[in-house]
Amino acid sequence: MAKSKLRVVEVFDSIQGEGGLMGLPHTFIRLAGCNLRCRWCDTKYALDAPGVEMSVDDVVSKVNCGYVCLTGGEPLLQDVYGLLGGLKGKKVTVETNCTVRDERLDEFVFLYSVSPKLSSSGEGYDVRVLESYLNLDNVRVKFVVCDDDDFLEAVSIVEKYNAFVRGKVVLQPDGMCSMSEYQRRLGWLCGKVMGCEVLVRSDVRVLLQLHKVIWGNKRGV
Ligand code: SF4
Repeated sequence: MAKSKLRVVEVFDSIQGEGGLMGLPHTFIRLAGCNLRCRWCDTKYALDAPGVEMSVDDVVSKVNCGYVCLTGGEPLLQDVYGLLGGLKGKKVTVETNCTVRDERLDEFVFLYSVSPKLSSSGEGYDVRVLESYLNLDNVRVKFVVCDDDDFLEAVSIVEKYNAFVRGKVVLQPDGMCSMSEYQRRLGWLCGKVMGCEVLVRSDVRVLLQLHKVIWGNKRGV
């Protein structure tokens, strides 16, 4: 097992609040640091945090669930090969912002949740990284869609990579708002999807973030 230390913001158990594994108990491992600064980031506390230095063994000892979500920040900025090796036997989802790729990890990863950032974020993604992920079967692509420009960008990506992304794309609104506004945003997005032939044909899903409905924007849940 690797001896390198990881910079960890938090490790906690909760239900998975988004994506195809929504509702399943998970252990979340949130690593410190991110190379992006999205305007609507909901985990700003993880961006510049030094985190607590932990060994792979320390982190693995805190994992209680069969499903694990490795998240951040951007977790792939740190060398997580040893950690994923230590989690062998667990179903590990890696959440990544589509700017980093480490093919050595593929053998350990149950699911990659890849989230290319659209224009409203003020950031972007790496096309070659996206294409590399799309060659894998165990990939889901998540877009946070905040406005018409984001929506059109998501449609053009789905159209371009149609053969690879059918049934694998999730759209969700920015959830950093009140519950009534969140409902409005979800309704707006559902209406946009149902009016778009490309997305309907591609079996795109609109999903909420269950943890936000239950706990709001609290951390560690
Ligand atoms: S990539 Fe994710 S963690 Fe990083 S700033 Fe954007 S939303 Fe926040």
